Amino acid sequence: TSMHSASCAQNNTNSSSAGMLSDFSGDLVIKPCTAAEIAFYEASNSSHSDFARFMPTYMGTLQLGKSEQLQKIVEPANTNGGAAAIVLPEADADTAVRAKTDDKIADTSHIKGNRLDTDLAIVLENVTAEFKRPNIIDIKLGKRLWADDAPPAKRTKLDRAAEETTSCSLGLRVAGMRIWAPEAERKISAKNGQQQEESYENGYRVFNKLYGRRRTVENVHEAFETLLGPPSDLDPEGLREGVLRDIKDTVGNMVETISGQESRMYSSSLLIVYEGDAQARREAVEDALGQAQQGDGSNGVGTDGLEARVGEDGEEDAAAAAAADDDEDDEDDDDEEEEPSKKILDVRLIDFAHAQWTPGEGPDENLLAGLQNVVMMLDKITTA
Ligand code: ADP
Ligand code: MN
Repeated sequence: TSMHSASCAQNNTNSSSAGMLSDFSGDLVIKPCTAAEIAFYEASNSSHSDFARFMPTYMGTLQLGKSEQLQKIVEPANTNGGAAAIVLPEADADTAVRAKTDDKIADTSHIKGNRLDTDLAIVLENVTAEFKRPNIIDIKLGKRLWADDAPPAKRTKLDRAAEETTSCSLGLRVAGMRIWAPEAERKISAKNGQQQEESYENGYRVFNKLYGRRRTVENVHEAFETLLGPPSDLDPEGLREGVLRDIKDTVGNMVETISGQESRMYSSSLLIVYEGDAQARREAVEDALGQAQQGDGSNGVGTDGLEARVGEDGEEDAAAAAAADDDEDDEDDDDEEEEPSKKILDVRLIDFAHAQWTPGEGPDENLLAGLQNVVMMLDKITTA
């Protein structure tokens, strides 16, 4: 798909840079959100389950600062200083109760999101939880980034930001990226200057939104190369190809699903998580191969959810298997002290503050163009 438009400039802007990506330690994330985002999660789970499989699992909502009763059950989320009352969607009550009693609740103080004037928060599966050193890229989708209810000033501002970036030309822009690189500290602090695109935090290179704004049509695919990191001798042959193919397959499935539905998602993101620790990647692949060889067809490596592919090549199978969403296995075999299952890849859609199901309006071409160009960017990456 050619998205090129004559009105798309490729100038750079100066802007202050708040890191988009967050550091999570728990199984859940709690994100301040709008009622509209909650409504979209609710509607997707009840009426669009084929789409909901691409979203983080929705656990419920929090009304911060309201309940005294639930404060006894839940450790307060703390970041806002208020007590935490969990408002459960009925269907998920069981899961959510278990989550709030057994699971750590992630500190969301690192989420540098938009400040909201409500006390509402959404409780979601932490997509990075089953990784040792999650490399994360957040790709903001769409050329148009505002919803119909946006005031004129906001439209102008977002349109300008789009024009100056790959949002306009490709319908995608890197919003943030975080890459495990424990050896990188000195290099980065050496080029410490004004308007940095990148900083260093606890072993991770953290790329801010300025980095994303400065990418061009010609070089934005390099961000995906950075996400996958340098190949390691520990990686089984074919791993990179397998991972690239899995990302493309999942994004392809998203395109197929969204093409058949009537929705509008403005300023939503594609979140790709890749294991940044080579040893952990190797272990995940070996575990997946081991499980596959035990031949427990029913309870093997799950391919629900993200539809990991099974190829002809053994190593690629393992990559696909390790990339698979195997949440169900966790619940099935909890007889022993259970190691958290390991993943090397996860690909989701997130950030639905400006998303809606819109019957009668046809498919969301604005979002679809961005997703299709993600696939095009991935095709530019050489795996040699
Ligand atoms: P905002 O409206 O602040 O942009 P997002 O939903 O985009 O909110 O979340 C901000 C960041 O938090 C994302 O870029 C991502 O890194 C992280 N994040 C959001 N949801 C999840 C999740 N379910 N699991 C893991 N990380 C998440
Ligand atoms: Mn976002």
